[in-house]
Amino acid sequence: MTHATYDDSNVFAKIILGEIPCDKVAESPHSLAFRDIEPQTPTHVLVIPKGAYVSSDDFASQASDAEIGDFFRLLGQVARDLGAAEAGYRIVANHGEDAHQEVPHFHMHLFAGTDLGRMIKPIHKQT
Ligand code: AMP
Repeated sequence: MTHATYDDSNVFAKIILGEIPCDKVAESPHSLAFRDIEPQTPTHVLVIPKGAYVSSDDFASQASDAEIGDFFRLLGQVARDLGAAEAGYRIVANHGEDAHQEVPHFHMHLFAGTDLGRMIKPIHKQT
């Protein structure tokens, strides 16, 4: 398998290094959660690993079990702490071009705070 090339000038790499600020929600040994700068729902948090992983594909194949466990524990904890676990929330990770991934550092979006509608339009109903 070819290891994806990580571009360490991306905005989340700078957030991890403290070179640019973020609205931090929580932190764990291997992961960081902060609010999206352009929230699409009342609660819109991004959870990222501190390690250099380009996308979910890279993270799933290259990250250690400790990093992967830490990441999902923090994600679940943040959802509970923000009161989203009860009413519901959605987690999304965009990988690559077809998914319109903008920032090439793996992240999951946590959407909550409103009725999020159905996940996706069934393909046969799209116009
Ligand atoms: P994606 O399309 O999945 O790569 O999403 C990237 C997300 O990063 C978008 O929702 C942006 O609003 C968000 N974003 C970009 N720059 C920042 C930043 N400096 N702080 C917080 N969120 C950001």
